[in-house]
Amino acid sequence: MLDDMNLNDILPRHDREAEGGSSTRAVHGGTKRRKAFNSLTNPVVQTATYTFRDTEELIDFMERKTWGDGDDREEYGRYGNPTVSAVERKLAALDGGDDAVLYASGMAAITSVLLTILPSGAHIVMTDDCYRRTRQFCQTFLKRLGIETTVVPMGDYDALEAAIIPRKTRIIISESPTNPYLRVADLERIASIGKSRRVMTMIDSTFATPVNQRALEWGIDLVIHSATKYLSGHNDILAGVVVGKGDHIKALRDARGVLGGIVDPNAAYLLDRGLKTLGVRVGQQNSTALAVARYLERHPAVERVWYPGLASHPDHAVAAEQMSGFGGVVTFEVKGDLKTTSQFIDRMRIPYIAPSLGGVESLIEQPALMSYYEKTTEERLELGIKDNLVRFAVGIEDTDDIIADLEQALRVVDTNPHKLRLEDQWELRFRS
Ligand SMILES: *Cc1c(COP(=O)(O)O)cnc(C)c1O
Repeated sequence: MLDDMNLNDILPRHDREAEGGSSTRAVHGGTKRRKAFNSLTNPVVQTATYTFRDTEELIDFMERKTWGDGDDREEYGRYGNPTVSAVERKLAALDGGDDAVLYASGMAAITSVLLTILPSGAHIVMTDDCYRRTRQFCQTFLKRLGIETTVVPMGDYDALEAAIIPRKTRIIISESPTNPYLRVADLERIASIGKSRRVMTMIDSTFATPVNQRALEWGIDLVIHSATKYLSGHNDILAGVVVGKGDHIKALRDARGVLGGIVDPNAAYLLDRGLKTLGVRVGQQNSTALAVARYLERHPAVERVWYPGLASHPDHAVAAEQMSGFGGVVTFEVKGDLKTTSQFIDRMRIPYIAPSLGGVESLIEQPALMSYYEKTTEERLELGIKDNLVRFAVGIEDTDDIIADLEQALRVVDTNPHKLRLEDQWELRFRS
C-alpha cells in the first residue's frame, strides 16, 4: 500500500494523522512537519501560563474562544500545553480516534471520565477481573454520589446485557486483556450491546496497546490507557489517556480544566519519546511472551499458563480474531505453595520484583504478596488469586536469556517429592 504513495502523502500533516501502520503513526502521528525553532522533536514548553502582548490581543483571544474558533495559543497551563497537545494528537492517531486527552495518571483518566459523564443516580455495568483501583473508585467513591455499579463475570455477555437498567445504566466498562488472567473481551459484542441499548462503552486497553488492538475500530466509544505502561514504555513516568470522538473528548478536556488532573509537559515529552519505539517494543514483547508462554506450558514445574496466544486460554478464539498480537504479560501458576513460588521469583535474575508492566525492563510479581498482601489465602482465593500465581511482564531483553533465566529459577520447584525434600535441606543449609 505504501509503495504506490508519495511519501509526502503518508507522512503525517495535520489532516493525515491516521495514515500508515502503528509504527508510522507512533513516530509521526499527529505531529506537525514544522515545529518551533525548526526543531525536529516537539519542544518541551515548560510553562505554567502564557502571556498576552497587550489588552487587544487578550480581547482577541477571548472573542475567538467564545466563537469556538480553533487557535493554537493557550491561556493557562491547566487548559492546555503545546507539548501535551502534540502527544494527544499522536495518541488519537494511534488509536484511530478523533482526539485524545492526557492526564497525570491512568487513574486520573478513569476517575475524570466517570466524574465528567455520569450524573447522580446513574448506573455502571463493569466486568470482573478488572483493575482493582477502578473497581474501588466505582464501588466506594461513586457510590457515595449515588452511582451504583453492577459487576458481571468477564465473558458472560448475557449477564452483561441483563445487568443493564433502562434509562439508568450510562456506561459499560471492561478491560482487555485483563489483569492478571488476560481475559480478552469480545469488543464487537460489547459495542453492539452498548449501541442497541443506548449505553456508552469504555475499554481499558492498557494491556493491549493500539499496536495489538484498536477498540474504537470495533465500535467502542471510549478507549483509555494507563500510559505509564507500554505507551511510555520506560518505567519512568505516570500518565493516562482517553481517546474517542471529538465531542466526547472536548467535554473531557473542558472538565479537565476544572478537575485539574493534567500531565506535566516534561512527562508528556518523555511519553512522546517513548511512543516513537512503541511498535518495535510491543512487537518484541509479543514474540517473547508467546515464546515464554509456550515454554512454560510444557514445563513440568508449571501447573497452568494463562496467555491469550495459547489455544488453552479460554479467550484464544476471540483474541485470535480481534487482536493482532497477544501482549507482553504471561500469567502462570507454579507447582508449589506460596513459599516455593516466592523462592522461584527470588531466583529470577533478569526481571525486577515490582508492580507495573509494559516497560523495557522485565518485571515479575506474585499477586498474592504484591497486590493482595493484606488478605488471607482464603480471601484471596475468593477473589481468584492463588498463592502460587505469578505475573510476568516481559521487557525487551533477549528472548533466549529470559527463557534461560526461567529455566534456572524453576529448578527450585521440584516435581519429584523426594528431590523436593533434598532441595529444602539445601535451602535450609545455605539460606539460613
Ligand atoms: C496501571 C493500570 C491502571 C492505572 O494506571 P496508573 O497510570 O497507574 O494510574 C489502570 N488500568 C490498568 C489496566 C492498569 O494496568
